[in-house]
Amino acid sequence: MAEQGNDKTDQLNAEIIKLRSQKDRLLKELNAVEAQYGNLDSLYRRYFPIILEALSQDGTALGNACAQLGAAMRKKASPAKIEYIFAQIKTAMIQEDISPAAAQKKKGFFSSIRKKSSQGQSINNLRQSYHDVVNHLKSTLDKKYTKKLDAITLNLLNTEDLPDFDEVRENIFTLIFLYISETSQDREKVNAFIRDIVARIFEIEKRLASSYEHTNTLLSSNQGFESILNDEMTGIKYSSDVAESLDDLRAKISTGLSSIEKALRKKQKVDQAISRLAGKSKDSFTSGFARLKQELQAATKYTEELEKKLNEDQLTGAKNRRAYDRKIEEEMDRFLRYKTIFSLLIIDADKFKNINDTYGHAIGDRCLQEIIKRTQPLLRKSDMLARYGGEEFAVIMPETDANGATQVAEKIRQTIEKIEFLYKEETVRVTVSIGVSCAKEGDKSGTDLFERADMAVYKAKENGRNQVMAQ
Ligand code: GH3
Ligand code: MG
Ligand code: MG
Repeated sequence: MAEQGNDKTDQLNAEIIKLRSQKDRLLKELNAVEAQYGNLDSLYRRYFPIILEALSQDGTALGNACAQLGAAMRKKASPAKIEYIFAQIKTAMIQEDISPAAAQKKKGFFSSIRKKSSQGQSINNLRQSYHDVVNHLKSTLDKKYTKKLDAITLNLLNTEDLPDFDEVRENIFTLIFLYISETSQDREKVNAFIRDIVARIFEIEKRLASSYEHTNTLLSSNQGFESILNDEMTGIKYSSDVAESLDDLRAKISTGLSSIEKALRKKQKVDQAISRLAGKSKDSFTSGFARLKQELQAATKYTEELEKKLNEDQLTGAKNRRAYDRKIEEEMDRFLRYKTIFSLLIIDADKFKNINDTYGHAIGDRCLQEIIKRTQPLLRKSDMLARYGGEEFAVIMPETDANGATQVAEKIRQTIEKIEFLYKEETVRVTVSIGVSCAKEGDKSGTDLFERADMAVYKAKENGRNQVMAQ
């Protein structure tokens, strides 16, 4: 009996030792679980605020739910409360439009974060530069372009993102081409205008390039942030896998994390799409700009040719009456402002009607061409020889006084007198009468000089022709 009692005691003792060691093991396990929980909790408290802060900056439902989660975590709210907020986040994310197309329109949540970035400033600068160009065009161009320029201003007001400027640029280019094709302005004026606009567009292109650099920097910094976030989230997930006894917590955390991961993946896609669009937009600007330069060069060449034709006499190749009118007024302006004198010669072919009548109009034409050909080399580069009308020519001589002009006139007269035209073995001669006038006190316009020179021609004719007279 006593033996039996001893056996029982031994058994119980063994049971106690076993239970003790089981208790120790369980306590150890509990400590380990608590340590795991502690680790997880500190990770979770360290990294979630980073994520939440980024996400809660907006007034959207998702932003508000994130802010709520942050507050709940700070207050160490119950798992039930946190689970409830995660459910709200999930709903908000589903409702939130974060597709790339919506982000481009600045409607999505992530695009609203982008809107707050420094890129917004670049867009404002860009918009201002284009406004300046449009205003410059408004003040320079004819009123008939105002409506089109107002439409461009409206366009500009609607720009939100870089690709929106494509249309603005295109419209400005089109308007400039239209202006070039329609304008009858002086070549110098058109050129000055084109130079100015090109300089301004260059400036905008420079700003645009720096704005793209900005976008790329922003993009790569975002990507850097996301990759860190991804790494940390993997770490949190690994820790929660180990904590088997905290299944509940793990489930809640992973649901939250996978939602955020999903959102970040979408954000990356949006960034890439925007970067591609930005690249495309820059390409289109560069090619548009190259095309503009090309077309401006062609337009400048065209206006130069047009200007030349507009100022040229068809028969003789000398300058025409239009060129004469402009030049004489230019010289008169200079004279009135700086007292720089200038002279005028009027050359009238003598008895030219007889030449036509005797030898025919074609010979008369050749005589006129020859007069120009022989006279031109006797003049300075700064002088202008123009066909004033029929058989009358004019020479405007800047910075030349009456004496100098008379000497040149005499040389011209003698040169023409010596020309021998052959007509059916007959020698044809042409002479000219030349009137000279020089700008003087009291002159107000080119007409004053012309009238004196014309009077001098009249006197030369009266005096027997083939001579020079000054007035
Ligand atoms: P004057 O010595 O008084 O100047 O006599 P003129 O015959 O030269 O003067 P008038 O004004 O009576 O006649 C000018 C002539 O010039 C008339 C016209 O036959 C001729 N003429 C004008 N333009 C041209 C032209 O383009 N080609 C030719 N062949 N002749 C022209
Ligand atoms: Mg005449
Ligand atoms: Mg004549």
